[in-house]
Amino acid sequence: MSLKSRTAVVTGSTSGIGLAIARALASDGANVVINGFGDADAIEKERAGIEKDFGVKAAYVAADLTKAEDCEKLIAAATETFGSVDVLVNNAGVQYVAPIEEFPVDKWNMIIALNLSAAFHATRAAVPGMKARKWGRIINTASAHALVASPFKAAYVAAKHGIAGLTKVVALETATFGITANAICPGYVWTPLVEKQIPDQAKARGISEQEAKNILLAAQPTKEFVTVEQVAAFALFLTSDAAAAITGSILPIDGGWTAE
Ligand code: NAD
Repeated sequence: MSLKSRTAVVTGSTSGIGLAIARALASDGANVVINGFGDADAIEKERAGIEKDFGVKAAYVAADLTKAEDCEKLIAAATETFGSVDVLVNNAGVQYVAPIEEFPVDKWNMIIALNLSAAFHATRAAVPGMKARKWGRIINTASAHALVASPFKAAYVAAKHGIAGLTKVVALETATFGITANAICPGYVWTPLVEKQIPDQAKARGISEQEAKNILLAAQPTKEFVTVEQVAAFALFLTSDAAAAITGSILPIDGGWTAE
């Protein structure tokens, strides 16, 4: 259990990829702080489930990460509760699909705030403690859309390309402190984020919902969705000693999508 006595903060971990990553880190002994929106009873069930399944401590912090002060409060609350933040997974993100000329300005601002700026604010708050302890792992959930674009996703693609740049800068600044910073770039993973965009994709392209689903998978040479467990196992590997030399890397896990 290489993460025993470490603390991991995983943003956007009440669902999907973040929840799977939080559970994977807990399975390796980390105390975890989960965060995100959702039904209070369902969140408490997930939090208690992590403690029961893995024998670690799990806390939930209800921060709205579109706000800079909430990002800072999340790191402060985790540090106060468990004594440190050793692993930071900047994962919270949302999608919105519309042609550029119709893209709502408030959606642009919200997606840049959550999918990009939140990672900056949380990293900025967590790095001093990691530097002081000479150990840290920062994992940003980017996307294949950090490497390539798709139509109708202006804000998302801009934010994900941005987080790739942020990842590289943080890696360079922390490289001599035992800290690594990497971005993982999943292709399509079947989570609520993908499920919710099917009707909008269909509308933006003037096609049926089934056709919209096929278009997503057409991008992926394996023709299969990546699973949350595969992404979580990849993230867990990046926290290991074996991965200490991997930093500043933008790492696809996309069924071959970005090879094309
Ligand atoms: P999801 O909708 O299942 O999870 C998103 C999480 O973010 C939830 O916990 C939600 O409550 C939380 N969240 C939303 N708004 C928030 C806010 N303002 N403050 C704090 N938390 C907030 O989606 P997912 O597919 O698991 O996505 C997780 C990450 O993975 C995102 O960054 C997404 O861009 C990325 N990603 C997803 C896919 C995919 O195909 N699903 C592919 C590549 C990258």
